[in-house]
Amino acid sequence: MKFYCICGESIIPARANLGYKTCLPCGEVAAKQHKHTIVPMHKSNYIPVFNRQDLVGINSKGGNQRYF
Ligand SMILES: [Zn+2]
Repeated sequence: MKFYCICGESIIPARANLGYKTCLPCGEVAAKQHKHTIVPMHKSNYIPVFNRQDLVGINSKGGNQRYF
């Protein structure tokens, strides 16, 4: 089975099997349009925020602290 991108380019099967609906160049463009929110965790690493509620209470300077 062959998959085609919106630009008419064929999508390599391995990529299509992963669920991608775009060819590599189009996927690159789409990926760059998607913005992520990255926040630093207190004394820890940086994490991407997918859920707005995760932002509540992670301020290290008190407030409504919520521990994970
Ligand atoms: Zn394309």
